[in-house]
Amino acid sequence: MHFRIIIKLSSIIGLLLCSFLKSYGQNDGDKPKLVVGIIVDQMRYDYLSRFSEKFAEGGFKRLMNEGFSCESNYLNYIPTKTAPGHASIYTGTTPKDHGILGNYWFDVKTSTLIDCVYDASVAPVGTGSKRDRSSPKYLQVNTISDAFKEQTNAQSKTISIALKDRSAILSGGKKADAAYWFRGKDQGHWITSSYYRNTLPTWVKRFNEKAVLENYMTDWEPLLPIARYTESEQDNRTVERGFKGKEHPDFPYDLKKLAKNNQGYDLLEFTPFGNSYTLNFAVAALKGEQLGKDAITDFLLISLSSTDAIGHNFGVSSKEVEDTYLRLDRDLAAFLIELDTQVGKDSYTFFLTSDHGASENANALKEKNIPGGYFKEATFKIEVKDHVFKKYGTTEIIKNISNEQVFLDKELIITSNLDISEVEKSIQQFILEQPQIKTVLTRSQIEKGEFSGTIEAYLVNGFNSERSGDVLYALNEHVLVYAETGSDHGSGYEYDTHTPLLFYGFGIKKGSTKDTTRTIDIVPTLSKLLKITPPKTAKGAILDSLLKKQ
Ligand code: ZN
Ligand code: ZN
Ligand code: ZN
Repeated sequence: MHFRIIIKLSSIIGLLLCSFLKSYGQNDGDKPKLVVGIIVDQMRYDYLSRFSEKFAEGGFKRLMNEGFSCESNYLNYIPTKTAPGHASIYTGTTPKDHGILGNYWFDVKTSTLIDCVYDASVAPVGTGSKRDRSSPKYLQVNTISDAFKEQTNAQSKTISIALKDRSAILSGGKKADAAYWFRGKDQGHWITSSYYRNTLPTWVKRFNEKAVLENYMTDWEPLLPIARYTESEQDNRTVERGFKGKEHPDFPYDLKKLAKNNQGYDLLEFTPFGNSYTLNFAVAALKGEQLGKDAITDFLLISLSSTDAIGHNFGVSSKEVEDTYLRLDRDLAAFLIELDTQVGKDSYTFFLTSDHGASENANALKEKNIPGGYFKEATFKIEVKDHVFKKYGTTEIIKNISNEQVFLDKELIITSNLDISEVEKSIQQFILEQPQIKTVLTRSQIEKGEFSGTIEAYLVNGFNSERSGDVLYALNEHVLVYAETGSDHGSGYEYDTHTPLLFYGFGIKKGSTKDTTRTIDIVPTLSKLLKITPPKTAKGAILDSLLKKQ
């Protein structure tokens, strides 16, 4: 009798506990155990097909053949830079809402140029360096993992990893358990900041001690015989930059020797071994944090920074870029096998995308008679100020010109009895008359919705009314602001906005689509898979065509 009552009671308690846990994000097989996001920094969509013949079976090919590929995936804002790229992918919206205008921007409140993740109120952890005071302070909205934690259970873990601090921090959002990034120079280890924790966990300390960086700083030679690298231009071209201390930008690179003249361990980011090092650290996180082991979905967010550094250094069509993607392909294959082993083959949902593409070097294009060039920003700024001086007798009404935006001193304009929209219009007209300019929008136009055209719409999606400037301009196609060697990105054109978007694993169908998708669709799609409401500012669409029916 008593026995039966006890059984009944315990089963009632069990049921109650079950439904309690379930309502708090408990996973009873209807959600992935782990969401893994990989951002390959500066990966153009065409790299997937360009290098596919030399991909092995278990990396990109596994994702494409067994997962779902969105072949017409685009960013929909300007500037297509790293910080807004990461923030947009994980918030499901654009700088308009998330406020991350660029890697740096002019802060109207303090009249200074600020770093997108600088936060004087936090301290670096795991390094004696005075830099690395970094947090997501400027991120104005929630990311997908923030929303998941808010709506389910604080026991869900989010770990975010990248060589660059901004990439790790802006992926992880406000509620990440930790974001780790790399302190190079003479240090060479993973660090974080007091925003997340006050000491490094044991597994990070152990990795920093055990992972002998010297093993990664070896000779960089082509993975395959270089004669097989037929998807790139010849090596040692004048449009490649290369490293200090080496006369020609061509293979092989003796990294140990080059480190001395190239900022010590910072050199790692400029080699494909920076990706290997990052993915090996991600495996250590998987084990150290027991990610995907319990019943509550965790997030492992990785950004691979080396692809960007190598693209900037050698250019879109270099042998070095081709080699980097072939090596990344092999690294991805090994990483997927780790996920299979640690989490279980069908228990994780994986996606891979990029924060932006890149333009071919404009000098290299000139040789092929493709128009483009380099924008002389310093001269341009002087000319804009000259125009304003001639018209209004002062240059003081311009506070700053940066990130292709003109910031006006509105108080001064009012006290000088000038009309703000008239000043905006005059500057707009002047900039429009300059060569290499595609389009110019003013704050007044944006606020009234008076614009049309794709580039204009992208400028508006990148416009944050609190933080942006008052006159925004966009350059012509293949007009670059960066140094005349290597590649650059930032525009709203195909080469910068068309990125890969691959989904794989739990809840994902096999297939592909040529329908247009947006980077901002990732968050609503994952939200549906995870059975949560997306962050309320998320603007994208749910990509139903890639989700299995549940
Ligand atoms: Zn980037
Ligand atoms: Zn080269
Ligand atoms: Zn870049």
